[in-house]
Amino acid sequence: MEIFHIGAECYPVAKVGGLADVIGSLPKYQSSEENKVRVVIPCYQTAFRSENDFECVHWGKLKLGNFNFPFSVLKETSNKLGFELYLIEIPELFDRPNIYNYRDDIERFLSFQIATLDWILGRSSIPDIIHCHDHHTGLIPFMKKYCPKYDKLKNIPTLITIHNGLYQGIFTFNKLYYLPEFNLINIKELEWGNCINSLATAIKCADEVTTVSPSYLNEINHSDNGLETLFQRVRHKSRGILNGIDVDVWNPNSDPMVEIHYSIENFVEGKQRNKEQLCALFNMNPTKPLFSFIGRLYNEKGADLLPKVVTSALTTFENEINILILGYGDVEIENQLTQLLSVYNGKYNVYIGYNEELAHKVYASSDFILIPSRTEPCGLNQMYALRYGTIPIVRRTGGLKDTIIDYEDNGNGICHDEASVEDVCDSIQRAVDLFKNKENIKQIRIKGMSEDHSWKNVSQEYLELYNLIIAKKYES
Ligand code: ADP
Repeated sequence: MEIFHIGAECYPVAKVGGLADVIGSLPKYQSSEENKVRVVIPCYQTAFRSENDFECVHWGKLKLGNFNFPFSVLKETSNKLGFELYLIEIPELFDRPNIYNYRDDIERFLSFQIATLDWILGRSSIPDIIHCHDHHTGLIPFMKKYCPKYDKLKNIPTLITIHNGLYQGIFTFNKLYYLPEFNLINIKELEWGNCINSLATAIKCADEVTTVSPSYLNEINHSDNGLETLFQRVRHKSRGILNGIDVDVWNPNSDPMVEIHYSIENFVEGKQRNKEQLCALFNMNPTKPLFSFIGRLYNEKGADLLPKVVTSALTTFENEINILILGYGDVEIENQLTQLLSVYNGKYNVYIGYNEELAHKVYASSDFILIPSRTEPCGLNQMYALRYGTIPIVRRTGGLKDTIIDYEDNGNGICHDEASVEDVCDSIQRAVDLFKNKENIKQIRIKGMSEDHSWKNVSQEYLELYNLIIAKKYES
């Protein structure tokens, strides 16, 4: 089978969050003699692009309304990622340091989708399945189905995976002319809330829809992301498939970003030694439990609660705990967290920014990781934490609910129900008590470290789904 994964991020090429981790690992686990897996993302100005070798396999000119953009397709030559990586190079739109948050993001990702389809159209073989990820690729199922230009690709089955339904790629009908020509009878397929909605279009036009956890699928049928009635309508072709993790990259016994390697056999000592190094770096006392947060600093992640959580917890447990935060995002939250530095010097620290290496060190060194998300489609942090013997403290939502069970119910973490300062602090209180019971906490960590959250089984589930979609296409 020839599988195309198309998305905006891919670790280690270009990463903002979990989307990159998934697109950088699922394809690796799907690749085999029978399955040729290709990953296609835009060519950003990243270290991976400049430090690796690529060959140009295609060049052309894409049309976005009245604009023409030259583009080329670059193939990574060493195949070291475990799958074939293709970068769509559109210098005018993507030769920039960041992945998102430019004023012309709509033009950028629409051009990326058009260039990708133009290239696939010109290839000698036609993929068996196109797997789209999030709204940045949401118009591909529509264009390939309804634009006569792509007639040859019309019957390729498509799957859209929703990693985050909050972001939908919405724009007004003024920009309709950007799309390649199609019969206007199909215009309704693009529309949601009087706008063109890329994610809604994908949900309507793709053969199957998956979300990255079963609980998230249930939640988006009811919660207010604006698409709930659409989700209810397509329930027959939707399923929730829990993400896996790359257990080769995330392995405390071989992780090159972690100072002292450890396994389930010697994690108590291994984690403590890592903690000593990290605490030295951040001016904290390594004999006390370390609570961390890693993630984007936005309300959806519950990051707005953090300043008050820090204040409240460090007032209550004055000399008993350390808190370390790694993240960036909302400037207001960043400022509040930075201001607390002078107040809680010696027991609290914050690193504003993105730092992959530091994240690995924090997973390895922490005793507990705080994940107070308001919504969490899947969440990978809790699975990385489990693998590194760090106990997740989570709000029961989405994928967090599907992976973490409270230790009092014989589970692997600490859970609470509300995204509130009180609930998070109650959980911290329970964690402080737990930390005093060395044998108990050790057993919970062993439980977490023994769990298998790898892609091994999940990647199989996706392959079965592809086969199912392909079979259905043949029937119809
Ligand atoms: P998201 O909603 O951001 O995709 P996930 O839990 O699915 O959340 O994935 C987050 C990924 O991004 C993890 O690999 C996490 O370690 C990483 N990450 C998030 N913020 C940072 C940061 N500031 N520095 C380094 N890694 C980060």
